[in-house]
Amino acid sequence: MEAWRRILADSIVKPKDLAARLGVDAKEIEAIVGDYPMRITPTVMATIKEKGDAIWKQVVPDIAEMEDFEAEDDPLEEDLMSPVPHLVHRYPDRVLLMVTNQCPIYCRFCTRKRLVGKPGFLKKGELDQAIAYLREHTEVRDVILSGGDPLLLPDHLLERILKALRTIPHLELIRLGSRVPGTLPERITPELCAIVKKYHPVYMNLHFNHPDELTPEVKAACGMLADAGVPLGAQTVLLKGVNDDPDIMRRLMHQLLLARIKPYYLYQADLTKGTNHFRTTVETGLNIIKSLQGHTSGMAVPHFVIDAPGGGGKIPLLPGDYMVHMDAAGVLLKNYENKAFHYPQPQQSSARELPMVSAAPALGSCSNGEHDDL
Ligand SMILES: *Cc1c(COP(=O)(O)O)cnc(C)c1O
Repeated sequence: MEAWRRILADSIVKPKDLAARLGVDAKEIEAIVGDYPMRITPTVMATIKEKGDAIWKQVVPDIAEMEDFEAEDDPLEEDLMSPVPHLVHRYPDRVLLMVTNQCPIYCRFCTRKRLVGKPGFLKKGELDQAIAYLREHTEVRDVILSGGDPLLLPDHLLERILKALRTIPHLELIRLGSRVPGTLPERITPELCAIVKKYHPVYMNLHFNHPDELTPEVKAACGMLADAGVPLGAQTVLLKGVNDDPDIMRRLMHQLLLARIKPYYLYQADLTKGTNHFRTTVETGLNIIKSLQGHTSGMAVPHFVIDAPGGGGKIPLLPGDYMVHMDAAGVLLKNYENKAFHYPQPQQSSARELPMVSAAPALGSCSNGEHDDL
């Protein structure tokens, strides 16, 4: 067995083991994991410093998960946008392909809480169906492998999927979304990197929520992927009591850049059933973006988005006060220090009014008849 499989198997999944390690009430945890599974890898376990800290909150089951009666299981309506099993086609030119329901850890705030934890990987017949759909849909140029976590697939299955995708001529980008480098860094092996390298361009968006997650081992794993030519982005979920604070968020963004990861998205928490105790106000996220923009490297500023309930997709949000006023004459702007600046618009006269009528035919470039209108 590969080393990373043994380490994954050493994760905490049983309430009594969690009780022994963290002193929680095994009965209470038992009542939760029946509905929503738990897994905490050794790396993550070692990062927990004290009861209720930012790492604990992300992985230790909380009874609040069971008291969230009103919310929906699938607020993003992904199940309604699935033309073939495990594939979600919401946007014009890109799709999600869910290749497993397994994850290295089960985040308590997971958007796909309804699905995750079940054993198994995308089956051969299901892959064939997905590939047939993609081959037919020539508008799809970008496939995102998701789940679950695609990096929990054994090497040969991951390669089977990458290889099959690369038989589709119109498919330009392959992306993977993963929390593996931050939670099971031992999985990032030279063998895995060698496989990924064969199918470029392959991008990865890695899930990180707190600066403490960027341990030296985690940074080294990210470095191996970057050395294999994989552009790394980060996706972060804004979580109450975990990272809803400008100082923590700035430290996280700086740690990501040190690990060669470009912050990509900061998500407002979804309305998924069992996760609503993690939600913050939208203003909290806007204030965090304001605290970053201009005050630190632009590279450190992610896009703040809400994945719209009802399947509207990701909608970007910016603090509203950068543009004070805009009209035909110009824009009145405020910078990060709240100082005002004016940017004039180009003059509004259209091409029709420009004195070029006689010059155009001489250039020989207006033979399509359109200049008759001038
Ligand atoms: C997030 C998402 C994508 C990718 O969106 P980008 O903005 O291109 O990163 C694609 N499909 C679905 C269903 C998604 O939720």
